[in-house]
Amino acid sequence: PMIIRAAIVGYGNLGKSVEKLIRAQPDMDLVGIFSRRSELDTDTPVFPSAAAADHAQDIDVLFLCLGSATDIPEQAAGYARHFTTVDTYDNHQLIPDHYARMDAAAREGRHVAMISTGWDPGLFSLNRTLAAALFPDAQQNTFWGKGLSQGHSDAVRRVPGVRRGVQYTIPNEDAIVEAKAGRGAEISATSAHVRECYVVADEADHADIREAITTMPDYFAPYDTTVHFISDEVFERDHQGMPHGGHVVTSGDLGGSRSSVEFVLELGSNPDFTAASQVAYGRAAARLTAEGKTGAFTVLEVAPYLLSPVALEELIRRDV
Ligand code: NDP
Repeated sequence: PMIIRAAIVGYGNLGKSVEKLIRAQPDMDLVGIFSRRSELDTDTPVFPSAAAADHAQDIDVLFLCLGSATDIPEQAAGYARHFTTVDTYDNHQLIPDHYARMDAAAREGRHVAMISTGWDPGLFSLNRTLAAALFPDAQQNTFWGKGLSQGHSDAVRRVPGVRRGVQYTIPNEDAIVEAKAGRGAEISATSAHVRECYVVADEADHADIREAITTMPDYFAPYDTTVHFISDEVFERDHQGMPHGGHVVTSGDLGGSRSSVEFVLELGSNPDFTAASQVAYGRAAARLTAEGKTGAFTVLEVAPYLLSPVALEELIRRDV
């Protein structure tokens, strides 16, 4: 099998997870990491991002582990002119624009640009399309969580008296049952999720803090919000990770009978799982380039066997 020479651009949470997972692949070698910073805490070779194009001949696939807010819109197409790329761009509304720009750049460089991998977008997108295609009149809902929400955790920490705090968004179990029964059209954004806060604070402040959080407009007031007060030790032990996940629930009538399909993710670490999806789609991107394909691809356009290091004949025997 072909050995895929891989490299990473951007060494944040996602870049670190991709580094770890590339090393665990039987068919990938990690050539180096490109960063805008000169000093990184890693034993992988580090090169300046600005000189990336000089290494193009040594790299089969470049993992773009940059931020979606500004890095990807500003830089991704530049990389796609020189490399086969894979990104996890997650601004859903702008994905069609990103697709068009990456397609033009990748065709110019005769490479593949695999876009918006990860889990949402990514594996959730795949499951939305797959499940909806089965029903003449599908009802579909996506629920997110249990997940750590950065913005809501910041809001909790701004409340006077809060020493440490995190917020998890959790799907409302009743709403998932409703969605499976086909009544998902009535579920609103606020009824679909509940919010759980874990706070470290002096006992004397607990009542005021609970009041301030549960009545905070927009962030918490419209939701079913619970505030748990915990010790520093419990905070250290249980609330340092970056869990996430969710459900895509699709149901419908099939000529007199009802069926439902549910795709569930329970992620111990959001960046580790996002990286797992990105690495698998990176393998597919390198293979598509090797087959002579060019242009942008979304997860919807990639045959599943291309994601696996196992040969197609073996997959057919084992999994079909
Ligand atoms: P980070 O903020 O950790 O990293 C983004 C970039 O910031 C890095 O590439 C790095 O570039 C730079 N950076 C990181 N740490 C530092 C630092 N200490 N000082 C200065 N610069 C730093 O973002 P994540 O890795 O957590 O996420 C990347 C993207 O992944 C997100 O924007 C999100 O859109 C996407 N994502 C997609 C998901 C999906 O399912 N599709 C799910 C989760 C995330 P450099 O090394 O060049 O400095």
